[in-house]
Amino acid sequence: MSRILPADGVAFEFTAPVVVIGGGAAGMVAALAAHERGAGVLVLERDALPQGSTALSAGLIPAPGTRWQRDAGIEDSPDRFAADIVAKAKGEPDPAAVARVAQAVGPALEWLADRYGLPFSVVDNFSYPGHSARRMHGLPSRSGAALIDRLRGAVETAGIDVLCEAQVTALVADGGDIRGVEITRPDGSVERVGCGALVLACNGYGGNKALVERHVPELAGALYFGHPGNQGDALIWGEALGAATRHLSGHQGHGSVAHPAGILVTWATITEGGVQVNAEGRRFSNEAQGYSEQAAVVLRQPDGIAWTVFDDRIAGIARQFEDFRQAEAMGAVLTADAPAELARQMKIDADAFSATLAEVDRLKAAGGTDGFGRDFAGSAPLLPPYRAVRVTGALFHTQGGLVVDDDARVLDAQGTPLPNLYAAGGAACGVSGSKASGYLSGNGLLTAVALGRIAGSAAASAVKEGTNR
Ligand SMILES: Cc1cc2nc3c(=O)[nH]c(=O)nc-3n(C[C@H](O)[C@H](O)[C@H](O)COP(=O)(O)OP(=O)(O)OC[C@H]3O[C@@H](n4cnc5c(N)ncnc54)[C@H](O)[C@@H]3O)c2cc1C
Repeated sequence: MSRILPADGVAFEFTAPVVVIGGGAAGMVAALAAHERGAGVLVLERDALPQGSTALSAGLIPAPGTRWQRDAGIEDSPDRFAADIVAKAKGEPDPAAVARVAQAVGPALEWLADRYGLPFSVVDNFSYPGHSARRMHGLPSRSGAALIDRLRGAVETAGIDVLCEAQVTALVADGGDIRGVEITRPDGSVERVGCGALVLACNGYGGNKALVERHVPELAGALYFGHPGNQGDALIWGEALGAATRHLSGHQGHGSVAHPAGILVTWATITEGGVQVNAEGRRFSNEAQGYSEQAAVVLRQPDGIAWTVFDDRIAGIARQFEDFRQAEAMGAVLTADAPAELARQMKIDADAFSATLAEVDRLKAAGGTDGFGRDFAGSAPLLPPYRAVRVTGALFHTQGGLVVDDDARVLDAQGTPLPNLYAAGGAACGVSGSKASGYLSGNGLLTAVALGRIAGSAAASAVKEGTNR
């Protein structure tokens, strides 16, 4: 379905200076930025309501040096954030790409707050693995559904056109010059829309089984927890146009999705001192490395299942997340005053489980590192009542994609920008490198918001200045 049509002889029903494909965070932010630059913008979204993976996320965006951090007394800077991103991905991402988003994201959040009233605050009561400062920002509910609702509201208030149930099924191009797109409606009818510049904000290929099998084989059989509409169209079009792609095996997994409830259980349960055990009641890994790489680790356990185990204090912290509150409301969070009683509810061996928790207590008291390499120094003991959630590993989204420059223009294999094609969010190559372990929490919305704003502004400027073709 995702094709390139030669522009010769193609007539367009209507034309917009800047067309944005996809109505998630990247697309909405790009549309706002392009509109502010005075360009006419049209957002095309395949769903009846723009939501995307953004709506499924926790809506947390990492940003350094923001006023919310300053108010909370948190010291941070773009350089420090960039160093954390590069360290997590073991030096794989392009330093220029990392610097670009690390510098742009803080001002982008303050812009969204000041201009469009998004009430961000910084999560200052727990840390995510790999972040050397508390820099995750979110809306009060800490939910991506609220984030996309607010962005959609801002786009509507600005009077930007959003055409829903408009799946882009082809790009119309003259060589690398994008002349427009073909959209297919739910009834099968087809329309063609011309454009001066095109922003690809239609995320990655997590929903495309064949592409996941090819690029992320270790999660080929895993639950896909992202938006099903993200079928890799940006990648398919980009490759057909000769665009450079990178790190296609990179992705965000998650090792703590409540199963079978299908609800994300925040990793704060682990970073605050919780652990994971398998169906035998034993720990099996250094959980503190990161939730992304933990997806494949959990899937290697018997039946692909683990239990995330924590306590009442940690549940109190996790409760700031809408997802966690839902998991509790659905009865997915078991609770008991003693390990043996919790094990009975979990239907696992009580002796093995009690011994595991006793060993964790001992390690915490001694401030020691365990055989998996997890450092328990400074970690508070787990106290009754205890909690446990049955979880599995899942694929959240892909991190590889189209290589872009400082203006978010898509580059070809020689590093030359295509004249009027831009990419942001999951459509563009992220900053996580080629492995799940390279994903630093928040890298997804980081490139959605930072590159979305850059792409929208640059596309609008190019169209206005006539440099788009
Ligand atoms: C459960 C979960 C939790 C997460 N939590 C976080 C978090 O807290 N922080 C973080 O940084 N990241 C998180 N992520 C990742 C984050 O959600 C994504 O990286 C981010 O939302 C990507 O934004 P986007 O705008 O690129 O894509 P999306 O939000 O997925 O939007 C893409 C849109 O494009 C549309 N589309 C696709 N193809 C077409 C087409 N051909 N024509 C028209 N429309 C099309 C789709 O319908 C969709 O609406 C999470 C992901 C999941 C699944």
